[in-house]
Amino acid sequence: MLLPYYGFITALALDPIEKKPLYHFRPGTSILSAGFALCNLRCPFCQNWEISQKMDDRGRFFSPEELIGEAEAGGCAQIAYTYSEPLIHSEFLCNCMALAHERGIANVLVSNGCINEDAAGDVLALTDAANIDLKCFSEDTYSRVLGGNLDAVCKFIGKGLKFSVHLELTTLIVPGLNDGLEEIDRCIEFIAGLEADAVPIPWHLSAYHPAYKWNAPPTNAARLVEIARRAQKRLNYVYTGNIRGGLEDTACPGCGETLVRRRGYLVEKCALVLSADGTGYTCAHCGERAPFVL
Ligand code: SF4
Repeated sequence: MLLPYYGFITALALDPIEKKPLYHFRPGTSILSAGFALCNLRCPFCQNWEISQKMDDRGRFFSPEELIGEAEAGGCAQIAYTYSEPLIHSEFLCNCMALAHERGIANVLVSNGCINEDAAGDVLALTDAANIDLKCFSEDTYSRVLGGNLDAVCKFIGKGLKFSVHLELTTLIVPGLNDGLEEIDRCIEFIAGLEADAVPIPWHLSAYHPAYKWNAPPTNAARLVEIARRAQKRLNYVYTGNIRGGLEDTACPGCGETLVRRRGYLVEKCALVLSADGTGYTCAHCGERAPFVL
């Protein structure tokens, strides 16, 4: 078998971890983001279509040693595999992830979650945190419009929990495609069902902007907030993204005090303090354990 794009990296950047977006994993830290080439889906509104839908020859090949060395040189304790789809390069991904762990660096996966269930285990066993796209809750939209598979994504998310990966989910709200309240409610139901058996799963609702083949007007900010508020009735950690003045802060579920205040990528830890045993965070106001990973 040939792996013509083994180690081909299209972008390398030092990002705030909140940009992934990950709000509950090592908040306020920097992460090295490594961008891959191509994707197994064909979302017509892809915001990264220049690297996901055609081969971009502006990148270059890295060995796992070189890539993890970049994270070390940047003083990053975590590396994200992101931008287009890392799972289609699982051989390189697993080699990098294993090396990262040897060097004490955490692995963050940003992915569409469309992968064969057996292969998923190899990657998830080495993943510390992940942001997975839940693009909609319609099998028809997944297969007909995006070229993906809702069932595979749901299984990948469930498997991530079994592997104790810190999970956050992202849904790009595309008007007319996935913003119907019935479909939003199915997403909420799915996430609430996962949370019943496990730790809370932050859900990021992002505003779409016209890109690639999709020219519909951008997501209305008020509509995005309305959807997020609807979700907050069932879920504790729902955030909006890509709009100004949305829902960005985290409140303590125990007393309502603001744990973390965010303005864009500026992060202020308010009532979020280290727990007495040093293994996590608690609320300084009421002492309740806060679901953030140190
Ligand atoms: S899964 Fe992500 S990278 Fe791939 S086509 Fe869809 S939006 Fe683009």
